[in-house]
Amino acid sequence: MGKTTPDYITCLTRNEKREILMPARDAYPAIKQFIEGRWVDGDADTSENVLDPATAEVLAAYRHVTAGQLDCALDAVSRSARGWRDLSPLHRSDIIRRAAQLLRDRADRIAFVVSSEQGKPLHEARAEVYASADIIDWCAEEGRRTYGRIVPSDNDSRLMVTTEPVGPVAAFTPWNFPVLTVARKVAPALAAGCPIIVKAAEETPAGAMAVVSAFADAGAPPGVVNLALGVPAEISEHVLSAGIVRKVSLTGSVPVGRTLSRLAAEHDIRTTMELGGNAPVIVEPDIDVDEVALRCATSKFRNAGQVCNSPSRFFVHAAVHDRFVAAVQRFVRDIRLGAGTAEATTMGPLANSRRVEYVRRALADALDRGAQIACGGGIPSGAGNFVEPTVLTEVADSSTVFAEEIFGPIMPIVRYHDLDDAITRANATTYGLASFVFTGSLAKAHRMARELEAGMVGINTTVVSRAETPFGGIKASGHGFESGLEGVDVYLRRKAILEHDPAAPGRGVSH
Ligand code: NAD
Repeated sequence: MGKTTPDYITCLTRNEKREILMPARDAYPAIKQFIEGRWVDGDADTSENVLDPATAEVLAAYRHVTAGQLDCALDAVSRSARGWRDLSPLHRSDIIRRAAQLLRDRADRIAFVVSSEQGKPLHEARAEVYASADIIDWCAEEGRRTYGRIVPSDNDSRLMVTTEPVGPVAAFTPWNFPVLTVARKVAPALAAGCPIIVKAAEETPAGAMAVVSAFADAGAPPGVVNLALGVPAEISEHVLSAGIVRKVSLTGSVPVGRTLSRLAAEHDIRTTMELGGNAPVIVEPDIDVDEVALRCATSKFRNAGQVCNSPSRFFVHAAVHDRFVAAVQRFVRDIRLGAGTAEATTMGPLANSRRVEYVRRALADALDRGAQIACGGGIPSGAGNFVEPTVLTEVADSSTVFAEEIFGPIMPIVRYHDLDDAITRANATTYGLASFVFTGSLAKAHRMARELEAGMVGINTTVVSRAETPFGGIKASGHGFESGLEGVDVYLRRKAILEHDPAAPGRGVSH
């Protein structure tokens, strides 16, 4: 399609001129629901606009799903559950692996769509698609290893523990990783033998459609994967109350997690809750501080900070604090702000205007409490959800940017003198998803790994999300896991089968 916008606009932020790269234009798909193996329009009178976060232009409009259409999806998962469960794990694995390959084959197109609706740079969107394919492959293999066990007993009896799929799943996915978060729920559910209904985020329906398409095109039978788009609370209330769903998995905010947990409890539904984090980073002085600063900043500003396991609160030893800040400033000054779809962009807009308002308030609060701006700090006026990458020093621990999950491109750095003090302050949060430590001392690293209250610890790395390892939090960050052996296991239940030889003496009653 022809270009409709200039390559960039120039705007004024905190008295500095900044260039913002504008979107490349290409077709964005029509948004549909996927129910019982068919792509259909929503039947509701209400509708949703998908907005380009770089310009606030409407990319597409779609009508919401109705209760009647949700009943069809519920009926579909109910009817397909037995057939999918009884298919051999090898056959299921083939279908799932094919879906991974389809995502890879379509990576460039999917990346463009994700950048358009979510705002992240194209290279990040491509990486998301490939990471999703890796997770799907992992699940395809892991589904073949859902072993039970035989427990030692006397000669006349056998004690067996078998695994079974938990049953139909409802998944609620967010807008920050529209492809990955869907893949990380659909693949393990299917690998374990469970059909699924996905409710994707309103802002990013096309990323979810891409994953669902890959599974459908790979041969998942009709009804095994469904996609519903509409009013979140109406969908969760209807789907979880129907008496069909046996497992709910959410990636989202703490308040929504609590709402869905309550609803699930009322209907005896198992839960996995991945509810975000506020990850501390502790930097000791016995390591290459320039290199650590570069890694920390790269990770912090990825996806404009909208990453639940992102390093968020930076505790840097006083001896290397200034050097760390200077290295981060150099990195941040080179960030090119713009629409995700512009190839030169290295940081995109925030996914929705709610985040911009939250960040604006958090920034003002930090400055009121004495924080200094080391760089950035501007929020460009005009359409688009742009926030400058911002580094703050002298931040009070009580300020919102430190105490709450900021989910934006603000990097607060504080200094510490004593490691015990840093660990105590790092743990002073309701969240417990990830934490990161950088030190040349293994003894210190292992001590911090033990003492930091989090589901994941990165030692001299900012990467804690891998297909092979369990991803999940403690405290308000939720419970349950995605990825790793555990990511499939959460979709399985155990059955104990106790068997006694009828010809043997006794009645098989020991206690
Ligand atoms: P939100 O809580 O309003 O919505 C989050 C998601 O939950 C949306 O996709 C929405 O569709 C869905 N949702 C809302 N109410 C629901 C309900 N009753 N039933 C089912 N689904 C429902 O949050 P937001 O404004 O989109 O994001 C704010 C915060 O959410 C962020 O600060 C962050 O803490 C958290 N978040 C976390 C992750 C993560 O990866 N854990 C991802 C996105 C957002």
